[in-house]
Amino acid sequence: MERGERLFPGSRGKGLQPRTQEVLDDLGVMDAVRAAGGPYPPMMGWEDGRRLGAFEMIVRTGPTPGTPYHDIWMLPQWRTAEILYARLRELGGEVEFGAACTALTQDADGVTAHLAYADGSAEAVRAAYAVAADGGRSTVRKALGIGMAGESVDPLPRLVADIELTGLERDHWHVWQQAKGGGLSLCPLARTGLFQMLAQYDDADAVPDPAPEAVRRLIAERSHLAASDVGEVRWTSPFRVRAAMAERFREGRVFLVGDAAHIHSPAGGQGLNTSVQDAYNLGWKLGAVLRGGADPVLLDSYEEERMPVAAGVLGISTRIHRAGMEGNAKEPRRTAEVHQLGLTYRGAALAVDQRRLDESALRAGDRAPDAPCALPDGTPFRLFDAFRGPQMTVLALGDTEAPGGAEASGDTEAPGGAEPPAPNRASVRTYRVGGPAPDLLDPDGHIRDGYGDQGVFVIRPDGHVGYTADHAADHADEMAGYLTRLGT
Ligand SMILES: Cc1cc2nc3c(=O)[nH]c(=O)nc-3n(C[C@H](O)[C@H](O)[C@H](O)COP(=O)(O)OP(=O)(O)OC[C@H]3O[C@@H](n4cnc5c(N)ncnc54)[C@H](O)[C@@H]3O)c2cc1C
Repeated sequence: MERGERLFPGSRGKGLQPRTQEVLDDLGVMDAVRAAGGPYPPMMGWEDGRRLGAFEMIVRTGPTPGTPYHDIWMLPQWRTAEILYARLRELGGEVEFGAACTALTQDADGVTAHLAYADGSAEAVRAAYAVAADGGRSTVRKALGIGMAGESVDPLPRLVADIELTGLERDHWHVWQQAKGGGLSLCPLARTGLFQMLAQYDDADAVPDPAPEAVRRLIAERSHLAASDVGEVRWTSPFRVRAAMAERFREGRVFLVGDAAHIHSPAGGQGLNTSVQDAYNLGWKLGAVLRGGADPVLLDSYEEERMPVAAGVLGISTRIHRAGMEGNAKEPRRTAEVHQLGLTYRGAALAVDQRRLDESALRAGDRAPDAPCALPDGTPFRLFDAFRGPQMTVLALGDTEAPGGAEASGDTEAPGGAEPPAPNRASVRTYRVGGPAPDLLDPDGHIRDGYGDQGVFVIRPDGHVGYTADHAADHADEMAGYLTRLGT
């Protein structure tokens, strides 16, 4: 349910990190994301109406066989929300708008959410579990009595706005770092005709004025643009930068995800991306418990896996923000640490390694890399095609047997054609690579490069390696037990 009458209108988190793009690929919306967004433009510094020159804030990298999505992709958050909402409806889901959760209680069997509707009516809704994705001021988090520990990262107020603007070309992200009163940036929002304005106020006691006329005045004061260059001001939001994390991400049958669990500086573009990963981590586990009959103890792994990630991301965005406060817009450049491709759940309870390899090898808990490969008839295929969908995937490499001696059940649809299995069916797809009857060929050795020559890997629905062994036959019972634990 959503308190607002419609989807949130602001551009806010406008950068999709490579790992989030992988998630969106898995959800089947990457074509829409590509069509609606664009790459980040280079930056352009300005002072006294003069260009200071172009520079790059991000370190751009090329794709590799293991990482097809390599750079941040710009998509205003309202568009990401629209695309995901459309996909949800396509899959039979719905969001109830105009319904605010005002209180929440729980007992041994379920959760009762008290809802207030825009027309003044109220209702109590009962569910087995609840997921609180109600933002940084989370009503649910407060109702559960979960505290938020954190700090103010920067005392200076800021104003963000989506505006129509003429007089500025759209092939750069323009910054006035030394503007009187505070820095100003105007970023063209790919394929929208709009710019996202971000203004900082040098005076910690300043109160940003979000009125359209005040936004026009501010741009005229801090840049060479005229107030009349600013057209419609679509959305504004004053904010201060804080970094904080909930003391717990779970209370009984209620889970906190996204900003309800952690809030960040926008520096480094981590907030939205971390929120997407939270939901991706939790969603399949709830499905496994509710539909697949998995032991609810599986849900304990959500907090165990996500809290350390959130803490790490908080550290990264605070560090980038504070370095930016030093006054040099060019530093620090955003490197691969913000891509979220290296996040791992190594050492957590669901990460089981029977392979004894060094730290640099792919281990249980790590993100499962992609690899271009081929079906037995030579049709190009990718491991991400194999992983796509809500099932577990078993990759059996070399001369190892498929788990339990089971017949390989590798789906062999052409790339992009793989439909997720029907709901209510927790399934395992097995792909043998090598051996006498392979399901996948590895002509260029990309699977070998990512996974090695030999071994068996269970890939979770969220694309992380869950279990590894050198030979499935040596661990058949354990591996079958592992898969049962995950609701298959
Ligand atoms: C000004 C600003 C700039 C940002 N810039 C960036 C950026 O550059 N990069 C980045 O990655 N992230 C950025 N973020 C952060 C990013 O927008 C958030 O991390 C992301 O929106 C979190 O998603 P969420 O769903 O957890 O929370 P939200 O997006 O806040 O969504 C919460 C939703 O819950 C609804 N709601 C609240 N209370 C209730 C209730 N009681 N009952 C029912 N519904 C309720 C709200 O109406 C809202 O729609 C920015 C955030 C802000 C505010």
